[in-house]
Amino acid sequence: MSENSPQNADDDIVISLRNVNKWYGEFHVLKNINLDVKRGERIVICGPSGSGKSTTIRTINRLEEHQKGDIIVNNTELTSDLKNIEVVRRNVGMVFQHFNLFPHLTVLENCTLSPIWVDKQPKKEAEEVAREYLSKVRILDQADKYPGQLSGGQQQRVAIARSLCLNPSVMLFDEPTSALDPEMIKEVLDVMVSLAKDGMTMICVTHEMGFAKTVADRVIFMDEGQIIEEAPPQEFFDNPKNERTQLFLSQII
Ligand code: ADP
Ligand code: MG
Repeated sequence: MSENSPQNADDDIVISLRNVNKWYGEFHVLKNINLDVKRGERIVICGPSGSGKSTTIRTINRLEEHQKGDIIVNNTELTSDLKNIEVVRRNVGMVFQHFNLFPHLTVLENCTLSPIWVDKQPKKEAEEVAREYLSKVRILDQADKYPGQLSGGQQQRVAIARSLCLNPSVMLFDEPTSALDPEMIKEVLDVMVSLAKDGMTMICVTHEMGFAKTVADRVIFMDEGQIIEEAPPQEFFDNPKNERTQLFLSQII
């Protein structure tokens, strides 16, 4: 499909996965995944460990390659074309379970590295933007510290700020709170809620069902590489239709 295919002319759709299939060797990890995400939409993906949640969102910025089907992000189709991959990555922010900050750089330098070196922003301007986002995630006072001097919750908030500095059109979160001590989960979720309120398009893999209830427009349940069920949160939690969804919810809530 070409970049300008009429099927993708809907500017409202930021991410589109059509019949996406992926194999790790012989193992069929994603089976016909279909997902359209509109601008401003908040999607929560949940499901048992090993069901393909991380793989799904990692295909969206080509950290993993899919073998069949189409993935289109901001009207750019992901193929082996490196130029397209670069365009997509430039527009998609990703926050991982482990914060992946650069340990030898300060908080501020972590945030300005890509804007300065990839986007060629002047240092002063990049620092100004970084300070703004560090302030938004309530960690500006730690700007000159190194990641190792911060708590897990603080590091994750820095990771979020660092992504925001590149002004992404969509943010992908892969279990951003699951490596955190319980008392730090809320400070990260609060930042994510505030991003959602600002209208950020988000796909969040998380088992924080309170977050899903407050923020999600749609909750998606995956099992064994497939989307088994999707619904607005109230319907999803109050009236799950599939047996596997019911079992999953009974185990985690
Ligand atoms: P989830 O995020 O839902 O826990 P993943 O997407 O990480 O699931 O993994 C889905 C399945 O694919 C799991 O069975 C996992 O062991 C397998 N898998 C993940 N990454 C790889 C890889 N790089 N090579 C082979 N198998 C993998
Ligand atoms: Mg995962």
